[in-house]
Amino acid sequence: MQKWVRKKISYICSMLNQEDLFKKIISHAKEYGFVFPSSEIYDGLSAVYDYGQLGSELKNNIKNYWWKAMVQYHTNIVGLDSAIFMHPTTWKASGHVDAFNDPMIDNKDSKKRYRADVLVEDYMAKIEAKIDKEVAKAEKRFGDSFDKEQFVSTNPRVTGYKEKISAIGARLYKSMEENDLADIKALIEELEIACPISGSRNWTDVRQFNLMFSTQMGSLSDDANTIYLRPETAQGIFVNYLNVQKTGRMKIPFGIAQIGKAFRNEIVARQFIFRMREFEQMEMQFFVRPGTEMEWYEYWKETRVNWHKSLGIPEENYRLHNHEKLAHYANAAADIEFKFPFGFKELEGIHSRTDFDLSAHEKYSGKKLRYFDPEINESYVPYVVETSIGVDRMFLSVLSYAYTEEKLDDGSERVVMNIPPVIAPVKVAVLPLLKKDGLPEKGREIFDALKVDYMCQYDEKDAIGRRYRRQDAIGTPYCVTIDHQTLEDNTVTIRERDTMKQDRVPVDQVASIIAERIRPQL
Ligand code: ATP
Repeated sequence: MQKWVRKKISYICSMLNQEDLFKKIISHAKEYGFVFPSSEIYDGLSAVYDYGQLGSELKNNIKNYWWKAMVQYHTNIVGLDSAIFMHPTTWKASGHVDAFNDPMIDNKDSKKRYRADVLVEDYMAKIEAKIDKEVAKAEKRFGDSFDKEQFVSTNPRVTGYKEKISAIGARLYKSMEENDLADIKALIEELEIACPISGSRNWTDVRQFNLMFSTQMGSLSDDANTIYLRPETAQGIFVNYLNVQKTGRMKIPFGIAQIGKAFRNEIVARQFIFRMREFEQMEMQFFVRPGTEMEWYEYWKETRVNWHKSLGIPEENYRLHNHEKLAHYANAAADIEFKFPFGFKELEGIHSRTDFDLSAHEKYSGKKLRYFDPEINESYVPYVVETSIGVDRMFLSVLSYAYTEEKLDDGSERVVMNIPPVIAPVKVAVLPLLKKDGLPEKGREIFDALKVDYMCQYDEKDAIGRRYRRQDAIGTPYCVTIDHQTLEDNTVTIRERDTMKQDRVPVDQVASIIAERIRPQL
């Protein structure tokens, strides 16, 4: 059996520019059955995707890993599965009918529609890229003696760029907050931002666009029957908070967790599954005594960062971004950002939502949503700390990290998906070395024993090296190979995906060895 020694360099990757890398990830996802464009035979539907045979496994594993950490590991958090359709007043109370808007602008020549704030943010990102270039140049020039911190705080060109970014940002966020759409347009004109398609600066005025999808319930189609596809799962938790509290005899602090679909009519949906019109969220609302919310907010920030770390994806891929500008319902908010191929972007949000939602539902429904706290003998509307992460964004973060092109010592190349073993779609591949001499029968026997606990694949086609490559490309952490020695002494080899190291072990130890290696590190 050929033994590959892995050269620990993803040298081709480092040479790829990030845009190419992202394209490769998208095509790899399609080629191996992770993600397909929705209704592709009709040329797809913009910003809607389907998860294929491996994608649906990976997605389920991500959801299970989250559910386990949130619900199974916390005695004071329970789950919920609420309906997508909700009474329309829910969305009036939550503020979505009046305020769930994005500013949009059209280019009159290309007829393309953009999010006005994103056009400005992209412009800011371009200046940021100039800073990175200056840093890279200086790093080359000064070599080991380069002090990055000092350079970015003193180099006049860099400080000039930084000032420009903060001035543009300050004006944009002020205009957004004051709903000053004319000023957002003026900013776009002053910065001479051109349409990336037509290259022209022939813009319409900026208008507000509500992101909720609406439809009609029942057979009458008038306004009274208009209902919405939920834009977040959180409201299903809020309206059920008393049901769960009473029937589950929950004591504050306690949480309700939910995984489910959400829908947003995003103006510009791009970057593959990063921003979709139909997506899935994993949200948890944690109900606390007013005045204790900041403690819990800090607790959940740390707990959620640790959850990400537990997957073993290196820390430098994450950063925490505390919001200065807060949504109308929040008194503190932070994002856990991930280093996607297109830059650091929000992966998860942690928000201290005060009593905004429950108080609004009290007001609109006329029902009391209070909690009697026996410890202080008082009744109050609880405060809420929320953690909210998109399943699809989490999926994309895993793919982005995992996709690696490697050059091996013997000169060959391999594409390997370094998916954290605990969430890998297929855990074990069972591979008889040859298709004869009783090896397939033994392979089937081992496969049948392992399939009880793990998602396994059985493969006896092609040379063993090609079969290993196939498993590398889908991120299978372990391959079990059956050879002639297996028939003699009942041992097999286990090959580990990342190191390509092979160990010979007794057949009856395979399941426990794999269990040990893929145990959640929560
Ligand atoms: P963004 O600023 O990127 O639009 P958001 O701040 O509106 O995101 P939240 O409303 O806080 O997002 O939603 C919580 C999480 O849901 C996000 O952190 C993200 O992971 C996910 N999410 C939000 N919108 C989308 C979308 N259109 N497609 C995929 N995932 C999404």
